[in-house]
Amino acid sequence: MSAVAAKPGSVSSHASSNDRCFNFSAGPGCLPEEVIQQAQQDLWNIAGSGVGICEHSHRAKVYDKILADAEADCRKIGNIPAAYKILFLTGGATSQNFMVPANLLGQDETADYLTTGYWAEKSAEQAKLYGGVNEAWDGRASKHSYIPSDAEIKYSAKPSYVHMCSNNTIYGTEWRASETDASWRLPKVPAGVPLVCDMSSDLFCRPTDFSKFGLVYAGAQKNIGIAGTTLVVVHEDLLKRNPRELPGMLQYRVHAKDESRHNTPPVFAIYFSGLVFKWILKQGGLDAIFKRNVEKAGLIYDVLDKSSFYKAHARKDSRSLMNITFRTPTAELDDKFVAEAKAQGMDQLKGHRATGGMRASTYNAFPRAGCEALAQFMREFERKNG
Ligand SMILES: *Cc1c(COP(=O)(O)O)cnc(C)c1O
Repeated sequence: MSAVAAKPGSVSSHASSNDRCFNFSAGPGCLPEEVIQQAQQDLWNIAGSGVGICEHSHRAKVYDKILADAEADCRKIGNIPAAYKILFLTGGATSQNFMVPANLLGQDETADYLTTGYWAEKSAEQAKLYGGVNEAWDGRASKHSYIPSDAEIKYSAKPSYVHMCSNNTIYGTEWRASETDASWRLPKVPAGVPLVCDMSSDLFCRPTDFSKFGLVYAGAQKNIGIAGTTLVVVHEDLLKRNPRELPGMLQYRVHAKDESRHNTPPVFAIYFSGLVFKWILKQGGLDAIFKRNVEKAGLIYDVLDKSSFYKAHARKDSRSLMNITFRTPTAELDDKFVAEAKAQGMDQLKGHRATGGMRASTYNAFPRAGCEALAQFMREFERKNG
């Protein structure tokens, strides 16, 4: 079945329901439908407690189990070593832009930033409030269309950490091994220097070796849940850094000691990530998720590769599994594409204003049928307008 033939409001191929469309939103992203349905029930009464999830104390037994499960399942999915703390914080990935340097960067020290996109630019800007920033790579000149090779990166003499963004949500580029292999390629950072990574838009999209990182963070609302919580995975050694006095709420070590309950946490958002983690495990974990993501994105990239009508933004060796950016020959045709796709049950395909064109976000929970429908629509649109 294909959504191309369906009218909005009757997208029959979308999983279980007939009143939802294919949602290509870049963030918040689409969610696994079975998780939404579970949450509907638990809002009313969770685990037979007679109390809804949002009405339980964050110190109650019910929440103890939710938090313990979320942490354990997250550790299991990512095979995250015991030396790393898993924290559920607030303030979005954007707050990590200042928490990272506030906790890790001394005023007289320098951190190296790999500026590969919009969010990476924001991260580098905020770090300047706390210490020296060396942009070891700056992709602005190429409109952030590719990820640098190691030879293109210029580290400073003794960076206190290196910051990277693994997937550039707006430009549709991702750190990957090669044109044909979407598994990890990480920058070769100077020996002993911790790598800090913003994984907001590709956390758990593929097998990940967490031992390569000092700290990983991700706003939950793209691949692991809803807005309200930010996952932070941090090596214990980094919790010992103490470059300045900070309020408790801004200190990783305080959140680690208080087990992500220093204040009232966003219980529903953390609960929701817990359900998404269980869903990932049920799918077969990251190997299975990765395989599916490669196939899903491949359906759309295949159309781009065979077309002289569409132009992809990302260089082939840097293209993202999660956000696929492309344009037609004119802005008018781009608008027509977005409008006609929407009329056929494919929503949120307009690109970010920084890139223009279109962006199809195909996060973990996005169904393969949606990628098939878009690929078919793209071929038809080219035939009619090319
Ligand atoms: C969405 C996004 C952010 C911003 O996340 P918030 O949770 O809204 O603060 C940061 N980095 C990346 C890579 C993103 O995709």
